[in-house]
Amino acid sequence: MTLTKILLIEDDEADYFILSKHLAKSSNLHYQLDWESSYQAGLERMLSNEHDLCMLDYRLGEYNGIQLIKEARQQGYSGPIVLLTGADESEIDIQALQAGADDYISKNQLDSNLLPRVIRYAIERKKTEHERERLLHEQIASKELDQRKNEFVGIVVHELKTPLTSLKGFAQLLRRRLSQSVDQQARQLANRIDVQTNKLTSLIDDMLDVTRIEGGTFQFDEEAFVFDELVEEIVEELQLTTEKQQIIRQGQTDKSVWGDRQRVGQVITNLLSNAIKYAPAAPVILLNLSTDDSNVSLSVQDSGPGIPLEKQQRIFEPFYRIEASEQRGAPGLGLGLFISAEIIQRQNGTIWVQSVEGQGTTFGFTLPINKPQT
Ligand code: ADP
Repeated sequence: MTLTKILLIEDDEADYFILSKHLAKSSNLHYQLDWESSYQAGLERMLSNEHDLCMLDYRLGEYNGIQLIKEARQQGYSGPIVLLTGADESEIDIQALQAGADDYISKNQLDSNLLPRVIRYAIERKKTEHERERLLHEQIASKELDQRKNEFVGIVVHELKTPLTSLKGFAQLLRRRLSQSVDQQARQLANRIDVQTNKLTSLIDDMLDVTRIEGGTFQFDEEAFVFDELVEEIVEELQLTTEKQQIIRQGQTDKSVWGDRQRVGQVITNLLSNAIKYAPAAPVILLNLSTDDSNVSLSVQDSGPGIPLEKQQRIFEPFYRIEASEQRGAPGLGLGLFISAEIIQRQNGTIWVQSVEGQGTTFGFTLPINKPQT
């Protein structure tokens, strides 16, 4: 049994003896009882924090126990406190709790069964309370840290973006200038600079989007746009990036959709470029379009490695990537699908994945056609 150190602040010696007697009789408490008889000495002893619990009398000469509880709490005493009240002082129990006591016990109820129980409960309750407070503080601190980190990443990414935009411009210029050059190596190098700056730009753009999503500043610029035209533009652009895979379109929607054209394009680009990236051996990537009265749907199907079921649930989380051997080396931060899901959901659509490991993957989304009624 561990030793429980109890401090008693009590100006009546007779009461000290009664309490000692009850404690001595209780067999299931291994304790040490220290006694102080005045307000001032009692307060000093409390603040020395040597005890597991403090019991104090309501009557303390010219002061009272409530004043002592308030003072001790104000000065930082955080241990459990039990107030002892006289027979005719039952109305002060609430005051005691409000002042910071954990429990109270009337002196005429004291006995060797109740006393150790009150002591143990008060100590345990206080422990739980402290633990809860500690967890809460931890949560708040980690939230603040998260927020600061997010702000910091936002600033860094923003600072990276400015010189990168210039670099991208120079790379394009160089590429154009050298396109007619007889120096084949210079031409190739200019092409590579351009391709690599584009990859870097898309990583930085993803990071910027995530900091905006987390900071609540992810903006949408909505208009009505022709859905199939957007799809066609993107397919043409992405087909240029791969010779081995053929993007085949099936169906059409013939619909004008209300939404952020550029952001919806970002989602389509992400789904198609993932299929190109993660299913490099698939000869065909099927892009399916369909519609009903109120929605357009698009899906991108590949016959690549697929995604195991347990990972499909996490695939839309930020920074989630699958570390399968066949995917190693594919560039990415695991942000594309997270951003895509945010874009689709913010426009009241749904995004989904269907995949069988070893047989391929289909990603798709559905978007409402009309402007939402407000
Ligand atoms: P990134 O491609 O930048 O890593 P995404 O959020 O777009 O990020 O994708 C998250 C992960 O999902 C990828 O790392 C990849 O492991 C997996 N994934 C996405 N699309 C496919 C696909 N078509 N086939 C197999 N795995 C995929």
